[in-house]
Amino acid sequence: VSGEEKNKKMTTELEKIKADLQERKQKLEQDMNVLNKEKFSDDQVQDVGDQALSSTMETLRSSLQDSKFEEYRMIVKALGMIEEGTYGICVDCQLPISTRRLQSYPNATRCLGCQELFEERRS
Ligand SMILES: [Zn+2]
Repeated sequence: VSGEEKNKKMTTELEKIKADLQERKQKLEQDMNVLNKEKFSDDQVQDVGDQALSSTMETLRSSLQDSKFEEYRMIVKALGMIEEGTYGICVDCQLPISTRRLQSYPNATRCLGCQELFEERRS
């Protein structure tokens, strides 16, 4: 296998990851719009009996939205890195992250080895 063929394969895999990320990004945009709309309509109906339930729902909903937003933020970042050509490079050792890992974790910014070290350091 020549180096050129290998590069071509990498590009195709990257294109696929990029397409997946864009699809996921669109889905999240839709979900977040739905969450926002629900929030607005809730503000209009508010009676005292529903207050407790409503605030539980609100907490649940905002944490849901936070996690979606967090994922969305990561995806936007990953797409930006793809454009810049820095995507898939480990931030710690600067070596390419395996495409297999990127396919499972498109937001990965570290190779497996560095990620394990990172998590060990953190815990
Ligand atoms: Zn690394």
